[in-house]
Amino acid sequence: MFFDFGLKDIIDIVLVATMLYYLYKVMKESRSLNVFYGIMIFVVVWLIVTQMLEMRLLGSIMDKLVSVGVIGIVVLFQEEIRHFLYNLGAHQKVMNLMHIFNRVDKNKKEVDREAILPIVMACMNMGKGKVGALIVIERGISLQDIVETGDYIDARIDQRLIENIFFKNSPLHDGAMVISKKRIKGAGCILPVSHSQDIPKHFGLRHRAAMGISQESDAVAIVVSEETGKISVAIKGEFQVRLSAEQLESILAKELSEV
Ligand code: ATP
Ligand code: MG
Repeated sequence: MFFDFGLKDIIDIVLVATMLYYLYKVMKESRSLNVFYGIMIFVVVWLIVTQMLEMRLLGSIMDKLVSVGVIGIVVLFQEEIRHFLYNLGAHQKVMNLMHIFNRVDKNKKEVDREAILPIVMACMNMGKGKVGALIVIERGISLQDIVETGDYIDARIDQRLIENIFFKNSPLHDGAMVISKKRIKGAGCILPVSHSQDIPKHFGLRHRAAMGISQESDAVAIVVSEETGKISVAIKGEFQVRLSAEQLESILAKELSEV
């Protein structure tokens, strides 16, 4: 049996191998490795039955299972698929390319000093008083679905209002505040929690929630720790910790103007 084996086939095999490797990595991260092995075994048996042994009855049953199985896999792994596609789209090179086609109106996205200062001042005060807070600032990717998990506010960004919302025992202090288009859009919102193994053990759920939203969107998440009063910022899955007022201000000014 001779195959016409050319450069195209080598590229084909390398692409499939790369795809399988990424699938393996995504499944491993989401602790679904056994499902991956199960699918691989099924595919190998299916190929043997239909291609090598050419068993028609069993082959046709397995063909049907494969076509239904694809829908099943999409349903089972919708979170992972979403995550994978988001990472693909958020890749720096893709973003740069998109910016060329889609000239961003900077004034629209820019959150100016008047919006940043009250946030910085409120965080400093809450840090001093060891009041826990979690503030998420929207950039390009909409956080409307997150706002809907909490209470809708739509207020001007105001230092005293922010402190009031996070004040212990205030009805809205639990969860995250969402800021969008220079307005406080919601409070008491629930963020996706990151399952990353790299987050230090002493960080609890508030920090994991900040990390989670920074991994799933381009938002900037600010955390004021209730335990230590320290201020951290999570951006694109990276934490910057123990920030001073000046550092927080310069990070916000930089990040919120360069979308
Ligand atoms: P701290 O340093 O302030 O103690 P932490 O990272 O140790 O922060 P926890 O002590 O677990 O975190 O903080 C719990 C608080 O974090 C909750 O009361 C709640 O307000 C907030 N929180 C926890 N999970 C989420 C979530 N998924 N979305 C939004 N807020 C959350
Ligand atoms: Mg804690």
